[in-house]
Amino acid sequence: MQHYLSRASEKPIVLTGDRPTGPLHLGHYVGSLRSRLSLQENYQQFVLIADLQALTDNAENPGKVTGNVLEVALDYLAVGIDPAQTTICIQSQMPELAELSMYLLNLVTVAQLERNPTVKDEIRQRGFRRNIPAGFLTYPVSQAADITAFKARYVPVGEDQLPMIEQTNELVRKFNRSYGDVLPEVEAILSRVSRLPGVDGKTKMSKSLGNAIPLCAEPDEIHRAVERMYTDSGHLRVSDPGKVEGNVVFMYLDAFEENTALVDELKAHYRRGGLGDGTLKQMLEVRLQEMLAPIRERRHQLAHDPGQVMDILREGSEVARQVAARTLAEVRHALGLEYFCR
Ligand code: ATP
Ligand code: MG
Repeated sequence: MQHYLSRASEKPIVLTGDRPTGPLHLGHYVGSLRSRLSLQENYQQFVLIADLQALTDNAENPGKVTGNVLEVALDYLAVGIDPAQTTICIQSQMPELAELSMYLLNLVTVAQLERNPTVKDEIRQRGFRRNIPAGFLTYPVSQAADITAFKARYVPVGEDQLPMIEQTNELVRKFNRSYGDVLPEVEAILSRVSRLPGVDGKTKMSKSLGNAIPLCAEPDEIHRAVERMYTDSGHLRVSDPGKVEGNVVFMYLDAFEENTALVDELKAHYRRGGLGDGTLKQMLEVRLQEMLAPIRERRHQLAHDPGQVMDILREGSEVARQVAARTLAEVRHALGLEYFCR
């Protein structure tokens, strides 16, 4: 393990995470998972299952969070996150992360937290009004603690996470100014499709909005989801010219169809008229079915042995905890919190 740490630490560190609030979906795939797959070879990558963060808006239902940890891990492995290259860990199993959050919370004001546009949207969506759990309002700080505890330099995320990265860097600068240079600044890596809309056309596919196609969806679920996708409401007859902009089916084709020349051709045909929504949807469905079939298959196989998956998470959490503990030792030293050390 010692050998692993010293060898791996020569590579720049990448960290990402997901809330275990449900199985991962196509939005995760294009927004973050695809980048993680390409980064894992040349970077020291940590992937965090953020169960503490998921509790901030699921406090009354911890079973939902704990029950989804395995689901998220199965998704990682099924899409090709390789535990020999990527350390997969569980946030709650590293108390150092919660400790670092405590220090960082003193470096941000409530007014700054209330300005975060992603958190504002989520507060609206969840109908919290004046009853915002304090943990929820402060989750970007806990996220900053996760990122900095691993001294990550890069974070491949969807667009909704950009305010969190900005917040992290503000905290890093304030921490270093106040206590000395300990934490590095971080850079977001945005993918080509950094915000996939939901099948309902809403701005973001999200587990919590019920508009997602999970990576483990069965063929008929994929079929139904594509069927209910929004196209152009003005495109009534096949022969009518149709609008491509804002058309969910085209957004998905842009995200998932690798043959871009074909997509360009379809767009031109649709704009001219003569290409029906049914035909278009069928093409998208074929592409999604072919992409998701091997992922679903691997997931089924892995799900036969949940013990093996939990072993991967336990080992990953142990390795990751050592890294976080090293940073926390530096943080405590910087703050002078070393009463009993000689
Ligand atoms: P929840 O509804 O519980 O917040 P979520 O679907 O928003 O779940 P998260 O676990 O919050 O998923 O997000 C994990 C990562 O996936 C983040 O980096 C986020 O930017 C990215 N991501 C999530 N949804 C999308 C999407 N629709 N398009 C692009 N990236 C996404
Ligand atoms: Mg989210």
